[in-house]
Amino acid sequence: MRISSLLATALIIFSGNLTADAIRQTKGDFRDAFRQLDVDLPTANVYRTASGAPGSQYWQQRADYKIKVHLDETRRRISASETITYSNRSPDTLRYIWLQLDQNRFTDNSLERLSETAKDAVGRKTWTEQDKDVLSYSSIARNQLAKDIDYGFEIERVSDATGNELAHTINGTMMRIDLPQPLTSGQVIRFSIDWSFNILLEERADSRGGYEHFSDNDTYIYFLAQWFPRLAAYTDYAGWQHKAFIGRGEFTLEFGNYEVEITVPDDHVVSATGELQNPKQVLNSKQRRRLDSARTKDKPVFIVTKDEALENEKQKSTGSKTWVFKADNVRDFAWASSRKFIWDAMVHKQNDLNNPEVLAMSFYPPEAEPIWSKYSTHAVVHTMAVYSRFSFPYPYPTSQSINTWKRGGMEYPMMTFNGYRPEPFEAEKNDAGEDKPVENAPDETYSRRVKYGLIGVIIHEVGHNYFPMIVNSDERQWTWMDEGLNSFLEYLAELEWEEEFPAYGDNVNVLDSITEYMVSEDQVPIMTNSESLLQFGPNAYTKPTAALIVLRETIMGRELFDFAFREYAQRWKFKRPTPADFFRTMEDASGVDLDWFWRGWFYSTDHVDVALTDLREYKVSTANPDVESALSRKEYATEVPETLAQIRNREEGLKYYLEKHPELADFYNENDRFTPSNKDRNEFTEMLDDLEDWEYQTLMRAVAEDDYIYFMDFENIGGLPTPLPLLITSDDGSEEMIILPAEIWRRDLNKITRLLIRDKAISTVALDPRHETADADFSNNHFPSRIEKSRIELYKHEKDERDLMRDMLRTLRARKAGEDGSIRTVPLKPTR
Ligand SMILES: [Zn+2]
Repeated sequence: MRISSLLATALIIFSGNLTADAIRQTKGDFRDAFRQLDVDLPTANVYRTASGAPGSQYWQQRADYKIKVHLDETRRRISASETITYSNRSPDTLRYIWLQLDQNRFTDNSLERLSETAKDAVGRKTWTEQDKDVLSYSSIARNQLAKDIDYGFEIERVSDATGNELAHTINGTMMRIDLPQPLTSGQVIRFSIDWSFNILLEERADSRGGYEHFSDNDTYIYFLAQWFPRLAAYTDYAGWQHKAFIGRGEFTLEFGNYEVEITVPDDHVVSATGELQNPKQVLNSKQRRRLDSARTKDKPVFIVTKDEALENEKQKSTGSKTWVFKADNVRDFAWASSRKFIWDAMVHKQNDLNNPEVLAMSFYPPEAEPIWSKYSTHAVVHTMAVYSRFSFPYPYPTSQSINTWKRGGMEYPMMTFNGYRPEPFEAEKNDAGEDKPVENAPDETYSRRVKYGLIGVIIHEVGHNYFPMIVNSDERQWTWMDEGLNSFLEYLAELEWEEEFPAYGDNVNVLDSITEYMVSEDQVPIMTNSESLLQFGPNAYTKPTAALIVLRETIMGRELFDFAFREYAQRWKFKRPTPADFFRTMEDASGVDLDWFWRGWFYSTDHVDVALTDLREYKVSTANPDVESALSRKEYATEVPETLAQIRNREEGLKYYLEKHPELADFYNENDRFTPSNKDRNEFTEMLDDLEDWEYQTLMRAVAEDDYIYFMDFENIGGLPTPLPLLITSDDGSEEMIILPAEIWRRDLNKITRLLIRDKAISTVALDPRHETADADFSNNHFPSRIEKSRIELYKHEKDERDLMRDMLRTLRARKAGEDGSIRTVPLKPTR
């Protein structure tokens, strides 16, 4: 899923340091930020090794599906039957199996509905301590929808291969099927389920699937996801993953092969996971010819043009057609169907003998133009090219982008539902409330936000094919494992699309965009269950992205990072990794100890903020009293100026008593307190005699070289150990960049002093000048500190007084035809 707004507020204090009981510091305040993570990670075993790779006896279950589904457009209802072949590849005997019934999330008494707070309903950003008791249009509309229609799966029959009914128990979004005979290790069971459900109006239910209604011409797009009973995952680390679906924690699924027959009105175009098996039955000859030609083109080719789609959406056919799709080795299946679809396609060629060509396709309504035909399919191709370089070649025959809503996105194997359309044109109005004429055709424009939002969301959702559709992490438990890794690669792909891609609003740099969140109180560690995240987007998407950017560009370097990241992707493709498998692989393949990094960024809520507090310059003392006394005298004169009284007495030409009685002058009037004595000289000679040879040589050389010696003080305010990139500028203007590694904090996480020896005098030092560590406060990063420069706008006080008499004279506007008084609201789906 794609979300992004930085939500705010609500005070939660979390002690960031998860300390294992086995080791506890009970004296002093030393914090061992570099202690190894071993005690916090699960013990390695034959299924998952200590190196982070799948173990010698790694296993996972398998579920193959055959589904027949019928879309009843007039009743907006699905009815279907499926046959599941479930293979028990675990070493365990199973007496029952669990399936996910995600549509049950939308029943009136679902766990999500009953546990929703008023604050959840409007969003944490909207509801604050100062501004509460908020009710949104969306909340009321969703309640109205629930009054009108029953949602959730209607399970009609569960039966075994011979047609005998199987006992089953529905527990919210999960269903347990009790097996008449236990399913032992290695055994396979086949069973069938018949079901139906009412399709949700997605915009009102925020359901990630359903239908969209276009009220202007009464047309629909159907996009079905979480639409069939799916096997819950059974794993070596958690047994059955059957934690209820309450909205945030997405899906934990098994791989298998799918054969799906989709029956829809015969003027619909269908897009689905996998490959179309019966083009002759569902496409006309012109469409088939265009589709064949797209397989050879490196630019999108229309299979259905905009004009054809506009013509198509006017009809309301009563016949039906069945589209047949097959998909191998996928963990899920989604589809979309509409008579509105424009359809384009082009080929993506990749350097992979097993799968040299992928058909990239887009499906979208005329309302999505002109931006979709320009960017969608190209963005699909670009995503595969970049992601494959960081992981593995794209393994499936198709990759599709479908416009199913106005903004946001959702991912399925080979299928992505993506938002962003040009804003509907609203003409300026004259005083009478009539549209003013415009010179340019209104539907040829789109905003900057829509353009980059669209490219970004397509990269994100197509990228999910890699994480978690192939590197099959447990989304219900760990949102960051798919959203975090995917948002990181999305960011890399965006920066490869064009140099100044506005990936984070006005920020190109993710590290600058995450600091506001990282200093906030409204957060939990990344290693928190998906449902308990306070600010979902920053926690699961942006903070992991920032962490991985710091790792790649500053801590590990691209070569070590990219090798290790690719190793993780390849070890775990078509398998199910846990966080420990990621942490361990990144270290195992790079030889870099990152335990401190995982602990700080993933297990705590500390942030990066280091202050460069002091810089002191020295020269090595010769210890020779004849040299040092003169220097001390000079130093004293600089440090301790004459008093004003001394200066003014002199200026007034005051005649001193001593001048009037010169006979009073003695030895002390000729020798000040800095004058070296013979005793001092003898002590110096003795000191030299006491030095070992090598010490004497060292002193002589240091005196001869006369280097500058610096002590630099750093204070760690944020608490995260961090490398210290330093830009050192010398008196002569030359610059030098050095990076002190994070390990510099291993014995003191609060304050350190660093020695630096240079043959040139330093004039300034800047900490993290390239903004590469996610430092939250740059005002303490310079020595000497800088004057902050900006521009200030003059304040103008404006009074706004109501003039009732004048306001009454305005022309009264009527609502335009077509605007029938139906409530129009902005959906709550958060967007970047
Ligand atoms: Zn996502």
